[in-house]
Amino acid sequence: MKPGPGKARSIVVALLDWFQSSARELPWRRTRDPYGIWVSEIMLQQTQVATVVPYWERWMRELPTIQALAKASPARVHKLWEGLGYYSRVRNLQKAAQTVVASHDAKFPSEFQQVLALPGIGRYTAGAICSIAFNQPTPILDGNVIRVLTRLFAIPGNPRAPEINSQLWSLAEKLVRLAATAGKPRSSGKLNESLMELGALICTPRDPDCVHCPVRIHCSARRQDRAAAFPQLPRRRKSVQRRVAAFIVRDGSRVLVRQRPAGGVNAQLWEFPNAELGAGPESAARAAGTLGFTLAESDPVCTIRHSITHHRITLQVYHARALGRPKTNDGQWLTAPELQKLAFPSAHRRLLEFLTS
Ligand code: SF4
Repeated sequence: MKPGPGKARSIVVALLDWFQSSARELPWRRTRDPYGIWVSEIMLQQTQVATVVPYWERWMRELPTIQALAKASPARVHKLWEGLGYYSRVRNLQKAAQTVVASHDAKFPSEFQQVLALPGIGRYTAGAICSIAFNQPTPILDGNVIRVLTRLFAIPGNPRAPEINSQLWSLAEKLVRLAATAGKPRSSGKLNESLMELGALICTPRDPDCVHCPVRIHCSARRQDRAAAFPQLPRRRKSVQRRVAAFIVRDGSRVLVRQRPAGGVNAQLWEFPNAELGAGPESAARAAGTLGFTLAESDPVCTIRHSITHHRITLQVYHARALGRPKTNDGQWLTAPELQKLAFPSAHRRLLEFLTS
């Protein structure tokens, strides 16, 4: 687990050289602006690089500064985030921007503890921002880095368990501190980025490309031909199947939608009225009844499948009619152009596309 200084230094040099020659051209790598780097790091949590690129470019065009984000309407920031999911990220991003404006004179702090104190920023994100934007030797440890380090040093056990996790943080810190003394420009940030990049491109969860790996000669898992045995993560939570009915309810050219309450999943986003489906052939009619609707047709007009964390959700969409005043919280009757301006979670955005196509 504790690499000697010679081996650790060789790993750092190999990673820095490889990153120099092989790093992907990504738009946030062209900036040293901590705001842009911070936005990219938050977007990249739980989200693929290819998905993030157009979101990040549009975000930076529309909200190019911390002040612009701090004063934007919540509806606008949700709309810019629409489709990325995990919307608490964007609410925290705006809260943190407001804190930076109020408490740091609108200048993103460079001190690690101050960065860590901002809403939505944990140890990983603070380490990434401080190393990439300010070239400080602050370590990072995410899923990619865990995979690389546990393989490189053949570290057994659950890497999320406190003792092993803290050893991995120490190892990541040792590497980034060595990088800081490598005599290359911006080497702290580059070392951290190289670990992330290696995990994303070469040391992938399945079929790592060891032949082209810049640190293969130092890799214990490869030497033991056991790359697939690391990291030793606990089994994933079993997925849960759910069936939900969503209702298209019209009043002339207007359609009924509602805003999700604060504090829950997808808070403040908009959706079509919906209810969980029970068992049996009458379940859609019963679900409609709980919302004060009656089904216009007994068969669904479309079915949308999607996942939220470990939930596998089948959304069955029905035409329905309101019986008097609908029992929906925050319901609003809106036209298609008005609906297009709102932020919907992905499944309901697909429903809206179906409705307006
Ligand atoms: Fe990962 Fe293979 Fe490189 Fe080891 S040699 S770090 S297992 S890609």
